[in-house]
Amino acid sequence: MTFVPANEGIAKLKPYQPGKPISELERELGMTDIVKLASNENPLGCSDKVKEAVAAELAEIGRYPDGGGFILKDQVQAQFGVAHDRITLGNGSNDLLEIFARAFVSSSDSVVYSQHAFAVYSLVTQAINAEAVEVPAKGFAHDLDAMAVAVKANTKLIFIANPNNPTGTWFEESEFDAFMQKVPANVIVVLDEAYVEYFPENFNSLKFLEDYPNLIVSRTMSKCYGLAALRVGFALASAEVTNYLNRIRQPFNVNHLAMVAAVAALKDESFIELSREVNKAGMAQLQAGFEKLGLNYVPSRANFILVDVQADPAQTFNGLLKEGVIVRPVGIANHLRVSIGTEAENAKFLAALAKVLELEAVA
Ligand SMILES: *Cc1c(COP(=O)(O)O)cnc(C)c1O
Repeated sequence: MTFVPANEGIAKLKPYQPGKPISELERELGMTDIVKLASNENPLGCSDKVKEAVAAELAEIGRYPDGGGFILKDQVQAQFGVAHDRITLGNGSNDLLEIFARAFVSSSDSVVYSQHAFAVYSLVTQAINAEAVEVPAKGFAHDLDAMAVAVKANTKLIFIANPNNPTGTWFEESEFDAFMQKVPANVIVVLDEAYVEYFPENFNSLKFLEDYPNLIVSRTMSKCYGLAALRVGFALASAEVTNYLNRIRQPFNVNHLAMVAAVAALKDESFIELSREVNKAGMAQLQAGFEKLGLNYVPSRANFILVDVQADPAQTFNGLLKEGVIVRPVGIANHLRVSIGTEAENAKFLAALAKVLELEAVA
């Protein structure tokens, strides 16, 4: 085979490992009734209103979507008070994370992010062969003070997740404000809020958009809104930053059914409230289950939790697969990440975990 020289960053890049699909485990084990708690999806699926809205638009798929995304931007504007010229739509927020990096970072620049942060930050940095500045976490959380200090002359962008995936850790508004005040105005700060819907009372990022024109708030419809398969996210920023992002966005990056679904999902607040309640109850169920098994966990404000299995995570993961439960090893010693499921899914996972780890419940 002839040698095809890839860009240096891409030659060294190890691709993102998605959660194992249910269909794959079904094929491997010849098993049905599999519980997937690996990708932080909404265990309720999506709202019925979304299904109706998508069904009503099926006849439209022969046409190109609206490249400007008018209907979705209008809904985002109505709900979050941010005008169309400050909204960028993405094919999932992963698409947006890549657009941010490509718009502002070149190979002689650096990108700052935390240890134990979302894996995509390092992947998009590597893909453009830029320098990665990974700041050690504090406990499992972002160390915002250290991240501000880590900014160098060539730093163009900082990725922050609140709450963070895979740790579930978070920071408060006052800490973030202090951080933003320290970051030079010519450095873009991406605040990735993929899980903000689960604990919205804790952090209002939108008010920071007015104070900091270098801030980008990134949201996704994949988690609480239950649209992971359709791929929709949106970014909120200043008009100036948004203008740059839209220059490199693919003209039809969000498809029509995805936009229709996103509008219906954003409007259905009762589905979000229900999802939040299911998540709260499931979180409590898993925490109580871990405590009974004598296992520690990292407190989380998301729809997943990182548990210390006191064992090799790969072995435990494989053991759980054999029990028909898919969770996620995330490269943190002794820990596995588990998405919060329905009550029945959580119960099946806890029973399988006890079996695989050979643990007896301690009162
Ligand atoms: C799941 C997740 C995303 C993105 O998901 P998309 O499906 O691409 O919108 C982004 N950031 C974090 C931290 C996530 O956990």
